Amino acid sequence: MNIHEHQAKDLLRTFGAPTPKGVVIYNISELSEKVKTLNTNNLVIKAQIHAGGRGKAGGIKIVNNIDELKKQARNLFGKKLITHQTGPQGKVIKRLYLEEACDIAKEFYLSCLVDRSSSKIAFISSFEGGMDIEDVAKNNPEKIVTTKLNLSKGISEKDIKKIIEPFGLPEKLKMQAFHLIQSIYKVLIEKDANLIEINPLILTRDNSLLCLDAKINFDDNALYRHPEI
Ligand code: ADP
Ligand code: MG
Repeated sequence: MNIHEHQAKDLLRTFGAPTPKGVVIYNISELSEKVKTLNTNNLVIKAQIHAGGRGKAGGIKIVNNIDELKKQARNLFGKKLITHQTGPQGKVIKRLYLEEACDIAKEFYLSCLVDRSSSKIAFISSFEGGMDIEDVAKNNPEKIVTTKLNLSKGISEKDIKKIIEPFGLPEKLKMQAFHLIQSIYKVLIEKDANLIEINPLILTRDNSLLCLDAKINFDDNALYRHPEI
């Protein structure tokens, strides 16, 4: 069971993981009021469907004024989006996430998953983000770092150091990265999630780490249910 990107980001935010500011809309009449709360016209419109690969398929649009925003949002609502993850039948766009546009310096990959059979949690991190991790695994496997943790022992400072190592962050950003990893770990444990994938995790030009895309998957028997499900 998956939740939408905007729901995943709400959850991450609740646990202290930084995400860009955004609002979800379910129809065009909500747009004007809701977008005011973002206090900027430099926005990204993100189709909310249960599949990745939206960028390449036309489901992510950058706009910088309200007319363009309305025009693009109108085009996207009700449209069938076909990505490499939807199958040929595609998925109809019923909600849009309007998010502040970020000034990206670098995109990384970060995910965290549970292997219930071995009671292990693994973090996967890579300098190469914003593309499918399967492709990185195939073409540049040396660029992927897997850090296995023991479920019963929690996460240690040593683990976190290993997880963030491939990002090559300057010293002053390491505290931010530490908090981020701890927050993601907490979501996984406390919400009984199977997988949290942040692709990309970005470093902005003004030196913030932000979860720019987020996928959270729950076990069908998980105790946690998102209120909208
Ligand atoms: P998907 O993985 O479904 O293609 P993402 O949310 O990862 O969707 O977005 C695809 C790409 O669009 C990102 O790698 C990033 O380059 C760009 N992007 C997404 N959200 C923003 C944003 N808020 N600001 C700037 N660029 C963005
Ligand atoms: Mg993505």
